[in-house]
Amino acid sequence: MSTVRPPLVAGNWKMHHGPAAAREFGEALAARALPPAVTVALFPPALSLAALRAGLGEGSTVLLGVQDIHWEPSGAYTGEVSAPMAAEAGAELALVGHSERRHVFGETDEETARKVAAAFGAGLVPVLCVGETEAERDAGRLEEVLARQLGAVAGRLDDARLAGLVVAYEPVWAIGTGRTATPEDASQAHALLRAALRGRIGDEAGGVPILYGGSVKPANAAELLGARDVDGVLVGGASLDAASFGAIADAAAAA
Ligand code: PEP
Repeated sequence: MSTVRPPLVAGNWKMHHGPAAAREFGEALAARALPPAVTVALFPPALSLAALRAGLGEGSTVLLGVQDIHWEPSGAYTGEVSAPMAAEAGAELALVGHSERRHVFGETDEETARKVAAAFGAGLVPVLCVGETEAERDAGRLEEVLARQLGAVAGRLDDARLAGLVVAYEPVWAIGTGRTATPEDASQAHALLRAALRGRIGDEAGGVPILYGGSVKPANAAELLGARDVDGVLVGGASLDAASFGAIADAAAAA
């Protein structure tokens, strides 16, 4: 079972909010009450992690993570950040295989799988992002794509680690586009992922949080969070503002 307790509301800032803006955001989020029953996590740019932590203040329950890691612990990989470095800098989680890593930077399933293993090795909880492109969906390949992306990772993990994973279903066509999957679309994909996990780890699959991501905002969060098999959300654009992100956390508490 994952150490991250659902519902989980996570924000991926992508390449937004440098240290000063991150600190301000942290102070604004700390000034409003977050629902205690919801696990809240943020993925700022790595350079802004310490400032966000400072803004949130001591005793904050908000978990912090990095948006990507390299699979090697150190080496001649200019521009990269390793999992042990991220952990030393205060990260507790790592996003891995985000669609922008896969589709903009050409990250392969094999590289994603190595990164997930590296995250576990450094004591970080990996949040594995999977999802189909519009063309793959239109071609009826949803199940095949999810099975391939999850299977590459599962093949590198023992059962205990697989049960400790967090998965984020993010259809590529819904990321940053304003197009959102319907709750039924999300439930269908989540059920496929859950079934694939169950095939490997049995009942433990029920303890793997599966998040939905793709144009989630305060106006549609409750409906998506209330969908069957949706254990939380991964939010991009709407996580950049503390009030909007906090409202999504409130929606998770009410779902
Ligand atoms: C994301 O970046 O993971 C994401 C889901 O973005 P957005 O919410 O902006 O679609």
